[in-house]
Order: sequence, then structure tokens, then C-alpha cells
Amino acid sequence: MVESRCGLLCSECSYREETGCKGCTEMDKPFWGESCPVKSCCEEKEHKHCGECDSFVCQVLHNFAYDKQQGDDGARIDRCKEWNK
Ligand code: SF4
Ligand code: SF4
Repeated sequence: MVESRCGLLCSECSYREETGCKGCTEMDKPFWGESCPVKSCCEEKEHKHCGECDSFVCQVLHNFAYDKQQGDDGARIDRCKEWNK
């Protein structure tokens, strides 16, 4: 099941209960800010998740996935590949 645009797995997210987040596929904007460049880009292209995109893996998604604080060492990129199967 696709839980996010970028490949993040909501069931593994520590902010889920704390913020009452339903997942970015279910809300207009993310709980953490006015907008997310990955979510906005993906939805503008009418993809369910980034793995469906011709530009996958783009620099924006790559930077999110490997961000030192918020990234997951590329796990979300692998998940997008899984969701594409
Ligand atoms: S980083 Fe963006 S695309 Fe990924 S789950 Fe959060 S809001 Fe969605
Ligand atoms: S892979 Fe990059 S260009 Fe493609 S939808 Fe995701 S954020 Fe946008």
C-alpha cells in the first residue's frame, strides 16, 4: 500500500501519533510545514508515488532520502521501487 509520495513508511514514523498525521497522501499539506517539494511535485505530475516518475530518482528526492537529520539512507527510494512492482 502506498503510504506517502516519497516512499516513507508511516508505520515506522515516530511523529505519527504525536501529531495525528494521517500520511501525506491523505492531507493537503504535511504536518511539518506549509508544503513539501516532493509531495507537491509528485501530486502535480499525478503520480501515486515518486517511483512512477520518469525522473526517479531526482535530486530533490535524493536529497530528502539522504538528509543527515531527516533522511533514511535511501530506504524510501528502495520502497518506491518496491511499490512499483
Ligand atoms: S517528506 Fe514529503 S513526500 Fe515524504 S512523507 Fe513527508 S510530506 Fe510526504
Ligand atoms: S521523483 Fe522527483 S521529479 Fe519525480 S515526482 Fe518525485 S520529486 Fe518529482
